[in-house]
Amino acid sequence: MSEHTLHEPQYALHIEDLTVTYHATPALWDIDVNIPPGVMAAIVGPNGSGKSTLIKTVLGLVRPVAGHIRMFGYPVKAVRRRIGYVPQRSSVDWDFPTTALDVVTMGLYGRIGWLLRPGRAHQAQALAALEQVGMQDYAARQISQLSGGQQQRVFIARALVQDADLYFLDEPMAGVDATTERTIIELLHRLRDAGKTVIVVHHDLTTVQRYFDWLVMLNVRIIAQGSVASTYTADNLRKTYGGQLALIETPLELPPSEAQL
Ligand code: ADP
Ligand code: MG
Repeated sequence: MSEHTLHEPQYALHIEDLTVTYHATPALWDIDVNIPPGVMAAIVGPNGSGKSTLIKTVLGLVRPVAGHIRMFGYPVKAVRRRIGYVPQRSSVDWDFPTTALDVVTMGLYGRIGWLLRPGRAHQAQALAALEQVGMQDYAARQISQLSGGQQQRVFIARALVQDADLYFLDEPMAGVDATTERTIIELLHRLRDAGKTVIVVHHDLTTVQRYFDWLVMLNVRIIAQGSVASTYTADNLRKTYGGQLALIETPLELPPSEAQL
């Protein structure tokens, strides 16, 4: 690979001058993002601030008006197999007739190819991933018959079998019970500790400091980004959430000892 085909390879995710519009209304306006490898990053911002659009555009599911996106220095097409994605739960058709095991096995298709039937070894791999998220007893269950938290665990298991280097998860903890949230966070921390980069759209400001080490604050434009320690400030929160400030006063008023719990 010659030098000039690489672009900011030191970043797991590098975005320059990205603008995305839906019917001429901007969802993302001229944003730059740099996320180093090996961090667990949160993307936060109010509803409709472009968080899901950002992830979908990076993955090539939404076409930008302008901009430049690189992962590990490469365009998404070149590194697709190194990327895992857990979509926002509300965007998935849960009535699709498929079992939990099938959903996880689909995560392997990137490697075994769509035309090859998954074999016993693949099924064993998928079952092992279901076990990691505590869902081994539900392998044969239709996904439509699982609770929200269980569905989310199945999608995490699918991301795990992908054995990616860079993971995108869109609000994985939204609407799940406390036990599921703990399971998900432990798995994501383990991935991060193994050197993977984990990028999570996160809705709960009270847990940003406890769960994440990197932060991107978005409201159509980038408001701030960097280490959580330097970025999670009252001023940046106010700039990001504006009129919704009242909703976030509580976590800000917690003394540091409690905020770290
Ligand atoms: P978030 O994930 O931060 O809640 P989204 O990225 O889903 O925000 O949406 C950003 C904005 O773009 C919102 O105003 C939303 O209504 C709009 N939007 C998202 N998807 C579409 C779409 N497919 N067509 C038209 N508008 C969309
Ligand atoms: Mg969203």
